[in-house]
Amino acid sequence: MQSKLPKKQSSVPWLRAFGEYKLEPGATNGGGRGAEMKRHVLGCVLGVGLFLNVVPSFVARNACAQDLASFEKRTAVKQLANGLTVIVVERPEAPVFSYFTHVNVGAAQEAMGQTGLAHMFEHMAFKGTDRIGTKNFTVEKTLLEKVEKAYLAFDAERRKRPSSDAQKVAALEKTWRDAMAEAGKQVVANEFGEIVDRNGGVSLNAFTNADETGYFYSMPSNRLELWAYLESERAKRPIMREFYTERDVVMEERRMRTDSRPIGRLIEQLLAAAFTAHPYGRPVVGWPSDLKTFSATDAQKFWETHYTPANLTVAVVGDVKASEAMPTLEAYFGRLPKGPKPPEISTDEPAQFGERTIVVRETAQPIYAEGYHRPDVLDKDDAVYDAISDLMSTGRTARLYRALVRDKKLAATSGGFTGMPGRKYPHLFVFYAIPTPDIKPQQLRVAIHEEIEKLKNSVVTDDELQMIRARAKMRLLGSLGSNQSLAISMATAQQRYGDWREIFRRVERIDKVSKEDIQRVARNVFVESNRTAAWIENSAKGGK
Ligand SMILES: [Zn+2]
Repeated sequence: MQSKLPKKQSSVPWLRAFGEYKLEPGATNGGGRGAEMKRHVLGCVLGVGLFLNVVPSFVARNACAQDLASFEKRTAVKQLANGLTVIVVERPEAPVFSYFTHVNVGAAQEAMGQTGLAHMFEHMAFKGTDRIGTKNFTVEKTLLEKVEKAYLAFDAERRKRPSSDAQKVAALEKTWRDAMAEAGKQVVANEFGEIVDRNGGVSLNAFTNADETGYFYSMPSNRLELWAYLESERAKRPIMREFYTERDVVMEERRMRTDSRPIGRLIEQLLAAAFTAHPYGRPVVGWPSDLKTFSATDAQKFWETHYTPANLTVAVVGDVKASEAMPTLEAYFGRLPKGPKPPEISTDEPAQFGERTIVVRETAQPIYAEGYHRPDVLDKDDAVYDAISDLMSTGRTARLYRALVRDKKLAATSGGFTGMPGRKYPHLFVFYAIPTPDIKPQQLRVAIHEEIEKLKNSVVTDDELQMIRARAKMRLLGSLGSNQSLAISMATAQQRYGDWREIFRRVERIDKVSKEDIQRVARNVFVESNRTAAWIENSAKGGK
């Protein structure tokens, strides 16, 4: 959950306030990559924060135009005959490169009953291919087919209505588990990761969110062809190796991140209440009952629908020459068979006509959050929301910080951000605050509403507008920082906007946001009937 440009403003306050509410690869899948990902995310977040504090804004002035011109010269984009898009950015500073494979599928594409399926591919990502990670694929393939047949029989019996035969269920479950144990004997654990390791690869990782799935790592430049082979083999077809073991890992991930954390449950409930029709109301990690039932066959169908070349964008950034890299990428990724374009989501969230509220009573840290429906990222006012997020949340001059934390001393932290839970479709702009001791969520609600009313009733100052513009440029520089973050930004922007240049144009769009735009959007969007509010009241302190 860390794609640079579109996520930056949303993920920063959210991560800071709520810790890491994001998905990480399971512990059985490559060992320790979760921790690595956390470092990666927090590293980026903190890095940019520090940058903002110490670098004067004039450094960033004109950076955007200059950078766009210089990137134009160093960037090559090509759509292959099968529909896959490749991007190569030459950056010969060190003899390494990073890549990012952006797959235009996230939890929003999941069918009812199959929530959590998109995220399964993150867990399956580096399990190997028909040649890597297996002792004998011919034998393994037959065993995996047996696993699936046994699972489908077990699943059908246990869900039989009006009643299933308990003895039969137990026997079928045993057959399934025995088949898994047999298939497991053919697995060469972590072979894919070890090949990457042995060849100098670092930071192998993947992530899933409501909009997209991403895969990435970095390698020495002289391993480009090996990487192209490995990545295209992976993309050719999925192997459902240890699928049900990983499903259990995800179940555990859900228990740890959502079910056993009040804040996790609150966010899940907030989204479920805010989105009654659109799939943004469903958790990325999946509902527990879906995680207990969906099959490898369901995953295979999902993959066939969404992992077609037309849905894939691969960016390579580093010490590579486009003239040499392009033919290599074309040779390997061009092997993927062309497939039909995946269907678009047809359900729009209907207009909301009244405020919805969720109150969770816990002996846990209280918190207040409220979300307002807003249009998608292609909306003409998209940059206005980014400007409001920045104005309300960034740094010690942010309005919510000054009012709730510094002056009124009601909150330990407070902010407002956009992009919840994704950006591709109409989503939420969320305000939140975590109270200081003895402060009730209702007091935070009142204080946040006072700040929202100020947005509606008076225009922002010249200084504030200047800061918003300067920080947008600094954020751009931050996103261009490492090969990896640039690869993520490039592929994401290319897919989302149809042009990687949008990374730079977004800064220009924020430059054009006027005081009146901010006031107009606040007046239209931050209204009671469009609000879903959720809070945790501390029941131990008489919150009932
Ligand atoms: Zn996971």
